[in-house]
Amino acid sequence: MRALDGKVAVVTGSTSGIGLGIARALAAQGCAILLNGFGEAPMIARLRDRLADEHGVRVAYDGADMARPEQIAAMIEHATGELGRVDILVNNAGIQHVAPVHEFPVERWDAVIAVNLSAAFHAIRAALPQMLERNWGRIVNIASAHGLVASVHKSAYVAAKHGLLGLTKVVALETATTGVTCNAICPGWVLTPLVQKQIDDRAAREGLPVAEAKRALLAEKQPSQEFVTPEQIGALTVFLCSEAAAQIRGAALPVDGGWTAQ
Ligand code: NAD
Repeated sequence: MRALDGKVAVVTGSTSGIGLGIARALAAQGCAILLNGFGEAPMIARLRDRLADEHGVRVAYDGADMARPEQIAAMIEHATGELGRVDILVNNAGIQHVAPVHEFPVERWDAVIAVNLSAAFHAIRAALPQMLERNWGRIVNIASAHGLVASVHKSAYVAAKHGLLGLTKVVALETATTGVTCNAICPGWVLTPLVQKQIDDRAAREGLPVAEAKRALLAEKQPSQEFVTPEQIGALTVFLCSEAAAQIRGAALPVDGGWTAQ
């Protein structure tokens, strides 16, 4: 018996980076997975097959756009139909845009808020009723160190992630007397495509080699001077899904190499 045998998880934004690390960690514990996120069909088919073969679990895929509420509701229905239920919901999909607030494109603000904040509301709204019916569920929202503190030029992202922590607390209170828990993980820098783009932009802007830009990025915020890994975020998600974590409710757990201790 593995810890999550028989459970079903929906992990948004799981075709890359942290979401994929979480999907792998949950699958390794026996959990069936609905993958979501963008990417070329052959790449997604490979991910699906590999996850299913390596861990002997069922793996479905839904390409719902997390900026579209009706597609999010349909994704939860799809998971329930194909995999039988949704026990674990990981709201992970996220995007970034960097610009001073007075130059921030309105369309980018709307997109960042939609994908990083509103999508979690829509997914929770769709998945929570069946969790409450069975009196067991785990909702894990992937926020950020930027849910706890701010940085310049990230108004939409910081607002969305702070908002996500607020949503996490409300859902935790509304489910406090049930077997459903809702928590947030707040990663510091994790070396994924989302962060690689910021490193590349910095290297170009400051005329630095990429390795130097990477060091500068860590030096500025993350005292450990090391990246957090998707595997570490996956392991914490698995822990939050365990019975040992049943009384962790409404928490914002930093995994940030000391970033928010400063
Ligand atoms: P990533 O770019 O590697 O992956 C993002 C995933 O989300 C991909 O699967 C992508 O296809 C999917 N996605 C993007 N827009 C989508 C949409 N509209 N609909 C559906 N799927 C969509 O990024 P990542 O670094 O793995 O980030 C994952 C989460 O972790 C995000 O919420 C991000 O804010 C958060 N986070 C990342 C870091 C970091 O340092 N990488 C730090 C803190 C928090």
